[in-house]
Amino acid sequence: MPSRAEIVIVGGGVAGLALATRLGNSLGVQGRARITLIDRSFSHVWKPMLHCFAAGTASNENDRISFMAQASANHFEFWPGDVVGLDRERREITLAPLCASDGAVVLDSRTLPYDALVLSIGSCANDFRTPGVAENCLFIDNLVEANAFNEKFRMALLRAYADGGALDIAIVGGGATGTQLAAELHKALDIVGLHAFATSPPKLRVTLLEAGARILPAFPERVSVAAQAELERLGVSVRTSAMVAGADGTGFSLKDGTHVPAALRVWAAGVKAPEVTGTYGGLSLSRTGQIIVKPNLRSVDDPHIFAMGDCSFIADEPLPPTAQVARQQAHHLARHLPAFIRNGTELPSCVFRNKGAIVALGNYNGWGTLPGGNVFGGGFLSGLGARLGHIMLYRQHQVEIYGFWRGLMSLLADRIDVAIRPAARLD
Ligand SMILES: Cc1cc2nc3c(=O)[nH]c(=O)nc-3n(C[C@H](O)[C@H](O)[C@H](O)COP(=O)(O)OP(=O)(O)OC[C@H]3O[C@@H](n4cnc5c(N)ncnc54)[C@H](O)[C@@H]3O)c2cc1C
Repeated sequence: MPSRAEIVIVGGGVAGLALATRLGNSLGVQGRARITLIDRSFSHVWKPMLHCFAAGTASNENDRISFMAQASANHFEFWPGDVVGLDRERREITLAPLCASDGAVVLDSRTLPYDALVLSIGSCANDFRTPGVAENCLFIDNLVEANAFNEKFRMALLRAYADGGALDIAIVGGGATGTQLAAELHKALDIVGLHAFATSPPKLRVTLLEAGARILPAFPERVSVAAQAELERLGVSVRTSAMVAGADGTGFSLKDGTHVPAALRVWAAGVKAPEVTGTYGGLSLSRTGQIIVKPNLRSVDDPHIFAMGDCSFIADEPLPPTAQVARQQAHHLARHLPAFIRNGTELPSCVFRNKGAIVALGNYNGWGTLPGGNVFGGGFLSGLGARLGHIMLYRQHQVEIYGFWRGLMSLLADRIDVAIRPAARLD
């Protein structure tokens, strides 16, 4: 390796931003490597909160972390751009031209060299090429899409207030995203109802469509049953074993021949890597386009390339696409990349330690599972323990990225913010 190695991290999500921050504060500040973070966006959001941005129950600026500010405070560089190509022989990545909102080219296509490249570009929902879905459904895979959904949701609610009618929304996918979104939409309406135009809010009819036998299949059955009951109490129609055959401008058609009408249609099922991984220098990919890596997160094809988080796939031990996995993998690379940079030392395997999982249904209820399979939340303080656990995951992430004091101040700023402003986006 050269005396000052080039480490390029593509994707500043849960994994990428944690890694850039840690490496910046070790190799970067010591001048032993230049750490460059590339992201297609200018700011980071905690992806497990996207359903809150979509519902409008999270909207304040504190929930976005500026990549440029984070880079300058933590000894790494940030460049905005969409990585569209990888030349493994020359060890260069290509960034697409960066355009302003009016289409004018701000930065031409550029290449960046690397000695070690870490890919952490996340994942998106998988529509399995179901007819009509791409054209007629909304997705909430990133902040732009979550905000686009929120805009449509607010306008549709306004129309329903004016007409005194109902608003039909159908969500495909009974995993954490779809289930939490269904509850969060009701929470948003509860809050909007406190401030709104008419005394009686319109009826919100949310239908959750899940192809499997139960929602939240990654959780114990007890949680699925309790979560379904909670959603139904809120008025959500939960349809399991519902195979979607297609979507159009009026709703979803199911394989059993029924039609689910919906003014807004959300696809939140399946997970796949962004399609661009197919253009990354012929790297071996899983069936869903994830980059195949060894247990130490090094590409099976190229010793200079690593992948972590949702866009990576360990063939021997596939892991779920969760923030917990992404975070642990980032910590692993932060710990072991310095020795690799210094003297080419092979990285040890990354051992995943399951610390459990949490799902929260708005303000209404939540459940957590511990590694032994024990369930907490629900029934206990109305799930307050589980809901606090869910909030703590986000606060833990903020403290990791900002440091303890700024993380604490950010928490206080949020508390002050909710005391001043409405708790849901109204404009
Ligand atoms: C609504 C929702 C709720 C969730 N809830 C939970 C939960 O409760 N618990 C949990 O553990 N997990 C949850 N998850 C999953 C969790 O968010 C992901 O597993 C986690 O964010 C993966 O981290 P990552 O770093 O791999 O990718 P991400 O956090 O998705 O980051 C990817 C980054 O790459 C950037 N990028 C993408 N393509 C390119 C490109 N071509 N060039 C440059 N940059 C690019 C993106 O802008 C983004 O910043 C949830 C996901 C969603 C959508």
